[in-house]
Amino acid sequence: MKLSFQHLDLHLAQPWVITRGRTDVKKVVIVELTDDDEIVGRGEAAPISRYKESAKTVEAFLRKIDPQRLRTASVPEAMVYLDRLSSHDYSAKCAVNLALIDIISKRCGKATYDYLNLRFTEQKYITSYSIGLGSPDKIRQKVQAGHPYPILKLKLGGPDDHAALKALREVAPGKLIRVDANEAWRTKEAALKNIEWLANDNAIQFVEQPLPASTPARDWIWLKQKSPLPIFADESHHHAKDTNLTALCFHGVNVKLVKMGGITGSFEALSAAKKAGLKTMLGCMIETSILISAAAHLAELSDYFDLDGNLLITNDPYSGVTAHKGVLSFANAPGKTGLCVAVRGETQATRP
Ligand SMILES: [Mg+2]
Repeated sequence: MKLSFQHLDLHLAQPWVITRGRTDVKKVVIVELTDDDEIVGRGEAAPISRYKESAKTVEAFLRKIDPQRLRTASVPEAMVYLDRLSSHDYSAKCAVNLALIDIISKRCGKATYDYLNLRFTEQKYITSYSIGLGSPDKIRQKVQAGHPYPILKLKLGGPDDHAALKALREVAPGKLIRVDANEAWRTKEAALKNIEWLANDNAIQFVEQPLPASTPARDWIWLKQKSPLPIFADESHHHAKDTNLTALCFHGVNVKLVKMGGITGSFEALSAAKKAGLKTMLGCMIETSILISAAAHLAELSDYFDLDGNLLITNDPYSGVTAHKGVLSFANAPGKTGLCVAVRGETQATRP
């Protein structure tokens, strides 16, 4: 088994701004594993700065790996090995996990969803399109750019949330939206007031992470009981083992592959969340079609989709799942096995 990786700069069509800062170029790391039969599996790490990850920390983790340890290991064994190397570095572990599952499902001649014993139903799963923070003018522009997509996700927690929502509604009155405050509101009372204001808009589905992840459980429980809209955990939820506490505090969870260490951790997190009665959403970072396609293979386990990271960049080198008018589809994917991803313009190599 050979492991190689490359750094990649993803260029944003529009600067991406949320409460934590602005991004013009997102640095990701692409991982390739090649097995003894020359089958190539691809994975991707889109590091999360919130968790002190960067392309450099991803590379440092990848350099610790002995690829021979991955050669005959089952996926769970491989993840135990990676967890021994570091108790953090989830986006780097995710990249390796994806590459392994890509190879294994290609060896079985199956698409990854099929390998996972899941279904992928065409025309059923619809991703939202994200609108970052910005001036009312910028927001109007971005909402216009998101015209083909039937659902928007609006980032709030900026200097003037009222102006942001008003600007969105001027361009897209009545369109279904979701809100993500990225931990910005400081007290449970302030969060409740904001959510009550949002509930006056009849087309808002839920509010993600209204308070900091450090908020005590009793405050979350207070907010959950009083909130007129469902609240979803993103920065507050990282593992399947968090689920019982999360279910007390929230109505739903945002599961991102890079946060959960890949498909394996996300499968467990989504299954545990559903079992606990939580609503589930598959989310993403700014990332290429490798990660977005990998997430789409878990679609059957998710109620909502926020898989637009590849739609916001201008130089995605890969193709896989498509999102015409927001509808996720593998019908035109370049390959039918593994993650169904290939370098843009190439069809997937078949097994020699
Ligand atoms: Mg979020």
